[in-house]
This record gives sequence, structure tokens and C-alpha cells, in this order.
Amino acid sequence: MANLSLKHLYKIYENGTKAVDDFNLEIKDDEFIVFVGPSGCGKSTTLRMIAGLEEITAGDFYIDGVLANNLEPKDRDMAMVFQNYALYPHMSVYDNMAFGLRIRHVSKDEIDKRVHEAARILDIENQLDKKPKNMSGGQRQRVALGRSIVRKPKVFLLDEPLSNLDAKLRSSMRSEITRLHNVLKTTFIYVTHDQVEAMTMGTRIVVMKNGVIKQVDSPMNLYDYPENVFVAGFIGTPQMNFINAKLSFEGENILLKSSVNNFLYEHKDFSHIDILNIIKQKDIIIGIRPEHTHLDVKENKNAFECEIAVIEALGNEMNVIVESVVDKTRIIVKMLRDDNLSVGQKVYVTFDVNKIHIFDKESENTLLERIPSTMTFKTQIVDNKLLFLNQKIALSKWNGDALKGHNNLFISLPISALTKGNDITLKVNKKEKIKDEWLFSAEVDGEYIYFKNSEYIDGDKISLDIDLSKIDYYDEDGELVLKHFDGENRFNGELVPVKKKIPCVKNNLIDISLYEKYEDAKNKQDIDTLKQLKIKEKNKLVFNYKLFDNEIEPNIEDLIRVYALLGKKFYLHHICYIVNANDININEHGNFVGSVKEVIDYGKDNFIKIILQNSENEVTARVKDKTYKIGESVRFDIPNNKIGILDLDFNVRLI
Ligand code: ADP
Repeated sequence: MANLSLKHLYKIYENGTKAVDDFNLEIKDDEFIVFVGPSGCGKSTTLRMIAGLEEITAGDFYIDGVLANNLEPKDRDMAMVFQNYALYPHMSVYDNMAFGLRIRHVSKDEIDKRVHEAARILDIENQLDKKPKNMSGGQRQRVALGRSIVRKPKVFLLDEPLSNLDAKLRSSMRSEITRLHNVLKTTFIYVTHDQVEAMTMGTRIVVMKNGVIKQVDSPMNLYDYPENVFVAGFIGTPQMNFINAKLSFEGENILLKSSVNNFLYEHKDFSHIDILNIIKQKDIIIGIRPEHTHLDVKENKNAFECEIAVIEALGNEMNVIVESVVDKTRIIVKMLRDDNLSVGQKVYVTFDVNKIHIFDKESENTLLERIPSTMTFKTQIVDNKLLFLNQKIALSKWNGDALKGHNNLFISLPISALTKGNDITLKVNKKEKIKDEWLFSAEVDGEYIYFKNSEYIDGDKISLDIDLSKIDYYDEDGELVLKHFDGENRFNGELVPVKKKIPCVKNNLIDISLYEKYEDAKNKQDIDTLKQLKIKEKNKLVFNYKLFDNEIEPNIEDLIRVYALLGKKFYLHHICYIVNANDININEHGNFVGSVKEVIDYGKDNFIKIILQNSENEVTARVKDKTYKIGESVRFDIPNNKIGILDLDFNVRLI
């Protein structure tokens, strides 16, 4: 059993193919994780990086909290089962299973015990004397599994192990492997392109496309709450129906205007939607599963007329493919058998309103997030106060000035801007646990607000603080009037070569995982470990960061990480330095000198924009407990351990 942690993993092959793109996942002890997605989406590459068979281009991989990027495959305590089980044909099943243990010099008795135990689990005890050539595909795959089981690995890695088997055998082996997981209670990672395999086996499924994770969730959540069109279309058969439409308000109601029909729903039916999408009349894709689509003989609200084009009888169920009479859009309806239906018949089609999915046409992401990430409300500004949801909030002077002349506005705020506090008080009407968080909702005169908290909040009244710096303001047409303040500084630059003493093994910079051990041993003055590590400090050509005209020495850990990724030609790379406004350290001895160009006052949160001496560059810093005047001179430092590094050539965040 092992906990695995994959943080910002990238794989870029030598030919430039980005096979895995910022992969993040925490895998807990004894989970059954499935990587699923179309061929070429990066599943096997990710699995191979976990196994240690493929080098990790960027990011960190931990096994039980220990950095393992460069750990040899044999030291990872993982067993891999492939599609081609590659058994030794001349050896018996027993010998095939015992082989790996023999070369590890495990005692004869122990081998015998483990082989019999594995054979019992796999139900092949009576076949131990057989040769693989006399066995069926399914039995051979069991032997391949047995060969892994006897090793008692912490993690099982299975790469499309069933794709060589016929459909019937695959289905029975699926349940075998699930049973095996229940018996062994070990971490399983299983790669497949088959969504049925993924849905039936995984406790959690990672859906991938083009090297990117599209969603990680339990099988049922993927089905119920797909986060994007890709996942919605990938999971479930027959596939979800998709219809292009446009969102707008019609009075208090929400109109989904499509070529097949104008669907009119109450706002409460889609209370999770950020109304900014409706104000902006976004193009959307309506998604509805065939099983949530119904046929009716008479017209009723939101029904639209279709003609039956195809009937696929499946026994007690049927798939009916209908065509809209207005534009021939095809919709699949999955329903119980009905012998009264016939091809050519006119019918009315309706959707279960609470099963409708709405995706943004442009991003293809859902607009009905389970935990809404942003919410928009009607507001008025009166006497420098923001009125919304029947509440009044004082604006800072800076805010008030920036919004002068605007009375009726919309404010958009991310859910992260709301925390327990005392700016506003709301009467809660729903509390729901979603994954590890509590989602609370309140309705105020037909507007819906959501907020989340890691813990349950008692009572029906909840008071919240609002971080005003996170608000976007829009006019009545949805045009941005004032943007939130993200406080992230980005500066393009380079890495400048310098000679420096760096811990090395032989002639190479040490590996990051060794560096941690080395530092630890150095701090504890553990002479034995230091000797054993064979690390020597050597003068090497490495780099400093260069921000504007100042050089900053990277901390050694970051230096090793970046050097490991970019190599000797680091100086050819275009770099973007990223520093958060919170991390700019204003102090009178600071190395950077500038003057205050602008003061941005959000009441509780204040920022200044500093223009650097002798340059056009601007830096934003968060300031506490001091007020600044425009033109005032300031000095500041940028701590070297707070600098993020983005490689613009690879488009990879290195730190
Ligand atoms: P999957 O397992 O999802 O089918 P892979 O992880 O095998 O996908 O491949 C992901 C991408 O990386 C594909 O575009 C593939 O062509 C590419 N790729 C895989 N191995 C190599 C390699 N050794 N060199 C270059 N490109 C590779």
C-alpha cells in the first residue's frame, strides 16, 4: 500500500511532443484509479513515469511523501502488468510465477508459500504444472497477474491488460481484477481507453485528453456532473445529446434558444449558473442524456416536434433516434420497450429539466458547476455603498472613485472571495456536502448566492466577509467596468550564467532527491551519510535570476530543479518570472528602488503600484499597516524562494 502524489507533472519527449501537461493527482492507499481517454492522450506515459520507466520532464512525484522522480524502477516496489503478458513459454505456470522471486534470492519456502497464495487468489491452483501455451488468453493473463502478486508490491500498475481478450472474457476478467483489488487492498492504477471498463472498475477515474486531465471523479459523479463537453460525451452510451443554443433572460425566466426549440425555464431550475453568462447572451451547448429524454404524443411545455427516424430494439429497452421537424437535428431517446412506436411517426420530445447540462460553447466547460466558482448579482452604488442581496457594504475611497458615475451595476465575485466573517448576514436555505467541502446556499429575492466552507456551519443564519479586491464590476450590457485585482507580477527575462560552488556527484549537479538527503545530513553533521553520498562541492557554470537590472541568487534547491530541466543550454530559454504581490518585501534596505505610482485601497486589502527607477517596469505589492503617497520613494526585495519560473519556450511552469 502506498500514497502517491503527482504534482505538476509534465512529459515532453525529445521530438517536442508534450505527452503529459501539468498532471496533478493525489492517490490514496488502496484506491483503484483508472486513467481513461482516447489513444495518444498520455495515459501510458503517465503510468510509465509512475513506474520509473520514463523520465519526468518537470514536476514532482512522491511515494509516501518521499520525492521519487529519480528512484530506480526496481526500488519503487511497484508491479506492472501489460497487455502483452510475455510469459516464458517453456516454463510451467509455477516457474513463471516464481521466476522473479528466485532472481531476488527469496527463500524456497517463501516462494512456495507466495506462489500458492497467489494461485489460490486467482483460482489457478490446479494449473500450476501447465505450460502457458496450453492455456487460454484469460488464464495466461491470470498468470501474469500472479507473477505480480507474488512480489507483494505496494502498487499495481496495469496498462490495458485486457485488450487482447475477447469481449466475454474481458467482462469476466474485469470483475476478477476488481475482486483482486478487494482482496489485496493495494493501490491499483489501471490504464484503459474503454469507458465501460473505467466505469465498472475504478473507485476514481481520471479522464484525459491531449495530455491534460479533463476531470477526476468517482464513476457516478462523472456521469452526473461532467465538467466539460469532452467528459460528457466520453462517459455513457449511447452518447449524450448535444444541441447548440443561446442563453438569455426572458423576464425573470431563462431562455435557451436553439434551432429545434425555445426552451423556457425558471431561474431556480438553473440557480448554479453565473447570470453573467445570461447577461452576455452566451452561446451554449445543451447536453441531455438519452435516458433523460422522453417521447410524448401530445405537445406540452418545452416539448418539440420530431419524427422517428430509427428504432433500435434491445430487448426490454430501446434506443429511438428522432429528427426535429424544423431542422432535422438528431436526438437519441433511450427508453423502455414500446411496441406501439414506428418509424415515421410524429412525436413530441421533452427533457428532464433537472438533468439538463449547459456548457459554454467557447470553453466547452460546464456552466452548472457543482460548486459555482463565480456568481454575479445586481447592485446599486449609493453614497459610496454597495447595495446587493438586501445588504449594504462600504466601498473604499479608491473603489468609489473608480466607479463614479455608475449607479446600476452587476458585480461578479468568485466563491473564494466569501469567508466566514461579518460583512453580510444571510439566511441559509440549503446545506450540502460535496466531496470534502460544505456548500451553503441562500436565496434573496430570486437571486442565489453560494458559499463554501471546509466545515459544517451550524444555524440558519451565516455571516460572511467579502474580499472586495476580488470583485469584477460590469455594466448592464455585461461590459467590464472595473476588474478585480489579482496582484500577480509577471516579468519576462533570462537566466544569467555565473560560476558557483554547487554540490555535485562526480561531475554532475546532484539530483534534487539527493539534495534533500545531503542538506539533512549536513545539518545534522552526519559524517557517515555524507561520505556515503559521495557529494563534492564543485565550481560549475550555473545561473542567477535576472529581474530588471538586479541579479538574484536562486536558492540551491530551485537552481537544481531548473538546471535539471533545462540543462547546460539554460541561457537560451526565455523565462517569465512570476511573483505574487503578497511576497514583495518592502523594506528600507531593499535592493530594488522605485516610487509609488498608484495606491489601490480596498479597505482591508491595500496594494501599491511601484514604478522602478530607471525603467518602465511596474511592480505591485500588498501593503499592510502603512499608507503611501503617490511619488513616495520605496525600496523592496523579492525573496528568492518566492519566485515562480515559467519557461516560455516549453510553456512549462518550472517552479
Ligand atoms: P496513450 O497511452 O493515452 O495512448 P501515450 O502516453 O502512449 O498515450 O502517448 C501520448 C503521446 O505521446 C502520443 O502523442 C504519442 O504519440 C507520444 N509518444 C509516446 N511515446 C513517445 C516517444 N517515445 N517519443 C515521442 N512521442 C511519444
